[in-house]
Parts: sequence; C-alpha cells; structure tokens
Amino acid sequence: MTAKLLLLPGDGIGPEVTVQVRRVIDWLAANRDLSFDLDEDLVGGISLEKTGEPITDAAMDKAMAADAVLFGAVGGPQWDKNAFDKKPERGLLRLRKDMELFANLRPALCFPALTDASSLKPELVSGLDIMIVRELTGGVYFGEPRGIEKLAGGGRKAVDTQLYTTDEVRRIARVAFELAGKRKGHVHSAEKSNVMHTGVLWREEVTHIHDTEFKDMKLTHILADNCAMQLVRNPKQFDVIVTDNLFGDILSDEAAMLTGSLGMLPSASLGAKDPVSGKARALYEPIHGSAPDIAGRNLANPIAAILSFAMCLRYSLNHEAEAALLESAVAAVLDQGLRTGDIMQPGKTQVGTTGMGDAILKVLDAAAR
Ligand code: NAD
Repeated sequence: MTAKLLLLPGDGIGPEVTVQVRRVIDWLAANRDLSFDLDEDLVGGISLEKTGEPITDAAMDKAMAADAVLFGAVGGPQWDKNAFDKKPERGLLRLRKDMELFANLRPALCFPALTDASSLKPELVSGLDIMIVRELTGGVYFGEPRGIEKLAGGGRKAVDTQLYTTDEVRRIARVAFELAGKRKGHVHSAEKSNVMHTGVLWREEVTHIHDTEFKDMKLTHILADNCAMQLVRNPKQFDVIVTDNLFGDILSDEAAMLTGSLGMLPSASLGAKDPVSGKARALYEPIHGSAPDIAGRNLANPIAAILSFAMCLRYSLNHEAEAALLESAVAAVLDQGLRTGDIMQPGKTQVGTTGMGDAILKVLDAAAR
C-alpha cells in the first residue's frame, strides 16, 4: 500500500533537516518494498510570508488526509512581534487542534556512542530506553476558567484550571498500555493524587483501564514529583510513563535531556483511531525548534528528524523492520565517530547536516548489499 505523507519543513533549520528525511524516504522507496506518495506544503513563518496565514486551509486539508505529517520546525526572531494569531507557532497549534492529536510520545533513548555525553553517570544511562506519553490537549493549559483579572482592592488575580474527564484519561491510558505491549510491558502513571482531585480521577481511571483491558501489563502509580526525582536517580527503572499535559511537559524535557542534545530527539503526536480503518492521525517532529542561530549553515543535526520518521514507520505505517533499520543506521554512524557540532566530542569527526545524511545513507546502502 502507498503511504500518503505530507512534509511541512517550516522555518530555520526545518527545511535543512527535512531534506535529509526526504533522502531517507527516497532510499526506502528505491531499496525496500515500500511506496510513498509524498507531498509538501508551507507552515509557520514561510507560510505567513507567502500566504498571510501560519497554515492555509488547503495545507490543513492535506494534513487531515495524510497517513502522517512530517513536520520540521517553525519560528524565528523576524516574526516575534507578530500578533498572536499571526505567529508561526499558530500553524503547529492548529495542526494539533484540528487533527485532535491528544497523545504526545517522546522516547528518551541513549545511543551507546553518546553515553558519555549525558550529564548523568554512564552506568545510569547506558541502554536507557524510556517512552513518555503525555496528554496533549487537556489539563491546565486549556481548562476554563482561566485568565488574569483586577482585584477591587488593587492587585490582580490569575487563574488556571486543571480539568480532566474520564474519557480524556482513559484514551491516553490506552495509548500507554498499547505501547507498553510492544515494549517491556510496564507503565508508570504519574500524577499528584495526594493533593489534586484531577490526580485522584487520573489514578482511578488508569487503574480501571488496566484492570479491564490490560491486566497482563504491569502498572505502577507514582507521584509526579517522585517521578522527576527517580528519572535522575535511576532512570532505567522506567519503560513507559503516562502523565498529564503539565507534568508531561516537564518530565518529557527532563527525560529527554538524560540522553544529550536536542538535535537527537524525535517525537510523535497521535490522534484517536478511526473505528473503521484503525488508522490514527499522526504528526512526527523533532523536538527542537527552528534554531535561527545556526540556520542555513549546514550545521543542524538531522538525526532527530530522521528518528521522527523512524517513529512514523513504526507507529503509522507498521514497518517495524525499516524503523529498526533506520535506528541502527544512526547508531552505526555514531559508532563510526561522526558528529554534528551539537554532539561533538574530543577525538570525533565533525560533519555537517548533509554529511550526516550522506553517512546514514552509506550505512543503509551497505546494509542493502
Ligand atoms: P531551538 O530548539 O530552536 O534551539 C535551541 C538551541 O539548540 C540552539 O542553540 C540551537 O542552535 C540548538 N539546536 C536545536 N536544534 C538543533 C539541531 N537539530 N542541531 C544542532 N543544534 C540544534 O530553541 P529556541 O532557540 O528556543 O527557539 C528558536 C525558535 O524556534 C523560536 O522561534 C521558537 O519559538 C521556535 N520553536 C519551535 C518549535 C517547533 O517548531 N516545534 C519548538 C521549539 C521552539
């Protein structure tokens, strides 16, 4: 079956890293029994410049119809003073909202060659492989009422509302247990049920989904503050961590940095499965931004974008073998001692964005022989 992909390179280093993803896609189409229908459109600042919108309705229609969207990055200082609805980031937010991408998946994986690059001791991170599942469309970032108001006696009052419903918790819990089923089968659910009502509901609903649908998995409840501590104390105890939007924002950044540079870190955002086709809307993106400080200079690390495409192969296209092939090609290039500037270490060889893409393709070529 032909996989329908929409490429949205965006701004800054987005186009540079997605060019390398495109080369990998072309390689797979030429060397494996896979076929892709690849389209490309504008998002972010470049879309604002050319169309006046951070993403057009036409590009949104393509995203809704695609098997997966491959996103680069958006933003840059030239658009910082734009009105709120004319900011490049609105393009990404619209994609997340209209595609109803409620589950954000962020792996924290430590490549053997980069064990020394972590701020933790090598023995704590070597072989590390965690998946953080963050609820992305609910919780305190969206709950009403919210806002800042003036108080009668002077001063102001700010309110944000943490709000979760049964359905919101159950659907993210299912995503976590399904993922755990393909991994080591252990889910940690992180909340603050000791001090928050939403935490009590979260714990009860995750337990319910476990007991009724995923009894064969292991479920451990953990308070979010303890989870933050355990991530730096003994990160290898975790397999899948499921948590809400706010705690997930913080815990996923913490877990990601256990393994080194922003330029190495992929992510996926998934929507609900269509009851008929079983397919879920999906967007894959490196977690880094548009890096204006290095844009256009062949300095960006394309590995996060390439690993995001590996996630796409695994989770949207069901091509586990090719996902694993890509990941092992990345590991092999790192083992050869090739590094982009962001992960450069003494004694290693520095390459640019294109050089890193070349090296990965060379390893793939050798594997195909
Ligand atoms: P950033 O992630 O763009 O860059 C942070 C630092 O990491 C920079 O020094 C950059 O050079 C480096 N870096 C990032 N990715 C790299 C890569 N692949 N290879 C090598 N080095 C890399 O974050 P920022 O500087 O805070 O933001 C820059 C712009 O990106 C802002 O406009 C921000 O709003 C936007 N942004 C977009 C996204 C997104 O599109 N999802 C995410 C974060 C920030």
